[in-house]
Amino acid sequence: MTSWTRRELGIGAAALGSALGPARAQAKPRVVVIGGGIGGATAAKYLAAGNALDVTLVEPQSRYATCIFSNLYLAGLWSLESLTHGYGTLAERYGVTVVKDAAAAIDPAIRRVRLAGGASLAYDRLVVSPGIAFQFGEIDGYDEAATEFMPHAWSAGPQTRLLRARLEAMEDGGVFVIVAPPEPFRCPPGPYERASLAAYYFKQFKPRSKIVILDVKDSFYQQEVFRDGWDRHYPGMIEWLPARSTGGVKAVDVRAGLVRTGRETIRASVTNVIPRQTAGAVAHSAGLVDARGWCPIDPETFESRLLPGIHVVGDAACAGDMPKSAFCANAQAKACAAAILTALTGARPSRLHLLNTFYTFLAGNDAMGDAAVFTPADGTIKRSGAFLTQAGEQPETRRRTAREAVGWYDAFTRDVFG
Ligand SMILES: Cc1cc2nc3c(=O)[nH]c(=O)nc-3n(C[C@H](O)[C@H](O)[C@H](O)COP(=O)(O)OP(=O)(O)OC[C@H]3O[C@@H](n4cnc5c(N)ncnc54)[C@H](O)[C@@H]3O)c2cc1C
Repeated sequence: MTSWTRRELGIGAAALGSALGPARAQAKPRVVVIGGGIGGATAAKYLAAGNALDVTLVEPQSRYATCIFSNLYLAGLWSLESLTHGYGTLAERYGVTVVKDAAAAIDPAIRRVRLAGGASLAYDRLVVSPGIAFQFGEIDGYDEAATEFMPHAWSAGPQTRLLRARLEAMEDGGVFVIVAPPEPFRCPPGPYERASLAAYYFKQFKPRSKIVILDVKDSFYQQEVFRDGWDRHYPGMIEWLPARSTGGVKAVDVRAGLVRTGRETIRASVTNVIPRQTAGAVAHSAGLVDARGWCPIDPETFESRLLPGIHVVGDAACAGDMPKSAFCANAQAKACAAAILTALTGARPSRLHLLNTFYTFLAGNDAMGDAAVFTPADGTIKRSGAFLTQAGEQPETRRRTAREAVGWYDAFTRDVFG
């Protein structure tokens, strides 16, 4: 290990101290954060903000594209570039050491993270926010390779670009099939917002086209509000088929563009399969995941119930009633950072603010704004209050919410990435 040079490690000075182990480490307690998405970037920023900790963020990508508003990109309303963020401010303003690598393994016994590039990082506390992985194999013919033909576009970036290209290339009069996933999944309104915004695009450029949502469920988030919006904006264009009417989605033939349900085979021009989800791979290999496929955590500190000293935030966590959303990942990361600061530096404990807001677009100028409050109770996290959009609201209310959403995105991503 002593023969490693800083160049070979590919990491900065603070992380080098960590990589060389406790004997050469800096005086500040060391926190390593795995994953530079919404949860991880927020945690790194808030952990580093007081300058009391040595914070290292491990993320393989140099830039992160948000899933938030990626459906607006699919509709041609936002560019992917405007949804993409770097880590410069976290490094320069907050002093976070950003290591461009993937965590390959975690050894909780010696409190070290091994990186895919070969280096290792020592930690006093570890935060894990790797997002989701997909469980292939449930739908015959849909595996990792099939995502190149029938993109899931449920992680933003190349997959979203691929789906947009498919929609642009689709003929007028084509059929766009969305296979909606089983719960729990990232962003409960997401598949239905996607249908809405694809319809918004088709209405302008391919008005004879149809959208079929093949759901593996029998109901979905804010169903009445969505259906009211579809009837108003896109009459006859979107068909939602619950599992009880189709018998579920059984198989796909990616080359022929066929989707087989329990009752029929549908020929699709473009197919978007959103598979069953589970916690990100590194959480599985580290032993942070329980039989449900997600990471059980303490509802106040987000410390793993399985491995002490490791905290899990964001979609990978099993956070009771909190949905898997960016807003929740951000709130959890702040609560987790405060708990770690208290544990490592004796900082005064902070009160938890566990909130969620979903801004969901039905059309370019028609958005819903749902808010919910959550409270740790009985060993889990329970929803303690909510404000939900109703069907039949005034168009001006929806236009105002759409404008608010744009301002929220800007403020939110500044809060996450600095
Ligand atoms: C279409 C769509 C629309 C959405 N819209 C909204 C919205 O409007 N509002 C909202 O609140 N939420 C929205 N969401 C949900 C939101 O995107 C997620 O809930 C949020 O990104 C979760 O944050 P996270 O940190 O858990 O995971 P992510 O943001 O996915 O970040 C995970 C990061 O970990 C990294 N990583 C993975 N494995 C490793 C490893 N081994 N080592 C190092 N790094 C690793 C990844 O590269 C990634 O950068 C939407 C989701 C989708 C799919």
